[in-house]
Amino acid sequence: MSDAPAERRQRLYRTEAIVLKRRDYGEADRLLTVFTPNYGKLVLLGKGVRKTQSRKAGHVELFTHSTLLVAKGRTWDLVTQAETVESYLPLRESLLRTSYAYYVAELLDGFTQEQDTHPAMWRLLRETLARLAASREETLALAARFYDLHLLALAGYQPQLFTCVACQAALEPVTNYFSIVEGGVLCPTHGEGRIGAEPLPLPLFKALRFVQTRDWEQVAQLNLSPGLQAELERLLHGYMVYQLERNVRSAAFLRTIREQVQNVTRDP
Ligand SMILES: [Zn+2]
Repeated sequence: MSDAPAERRQRLYRTEAIVLKRRDYGEADRLLTVFTPNYGKLVLLGKGVRKTQSRKAGHVELFTHSTLLVAKGRTWDLVTQAETVESYLPLRESLLRTSYAYYVAELLDGFTQEQDTHPAMWRLLRETLARLAASREETLALAARFYDLHLLALAGYQPQLFTCVACQAALEPVTNYFSIVEGGVLCPTHGEGRIGAEPLPLPLFKALRFVQTRDWEQVAQLNLSPGLQAELERLLHGYMVYQLERNVRSAAFLRTIREQVQNVTRDP
């Protein structure tokens, strides 16, 4: 991205950005954690964006994809102009979709450092938000699992699913073992009785490998039983929490929301 000479003199830069997180600052300002294609994760100051008449406010909502004009500042760089590229409106209109979007944003925040440029993660973030905004509700969980596995790969924590983490032999379609600590699957010989390894039933093993290696169009067609979906989620969350070495707060939030939605559906 090349800035115009005039912008460079004024210490301005233009960037696309998606708002991951925000917190109130001062009386009318907000600190925005955004992800950008060329600068990675940034914390920016949105001055006056909590005022009702702010022209910038609508363009720096959570999960909104905008073009920002940013001025370099001493502590925080300052958002001086903002224009929406894609608002992903459904993400703010349905509590279920909102909770998934929080989850996606929090994981990205957790797996990235400030100013760590990662264009592939930017693409994954955009594609995932678009899927969460447009997919049928039954497909949202798969979109989240697709995101989990692809984010892990891009962050350098891809679980090893094709060869045994102990002996590197190709894994057979049998009940293998999964070890969070060792970063993937163990063959029956090395997995059985091993501390920290749990049996990995074949359907779960197959689902993991499918979601890790196929493109989204194929994954979206998967028809997993609710039990298998839940197992997939439990395994990946355990794995990610270990990698992040802290609790993924929005994962618990998401479970709460989903239980509420299911209860509503069950008891009309
Ligand atoms: Zn082995």
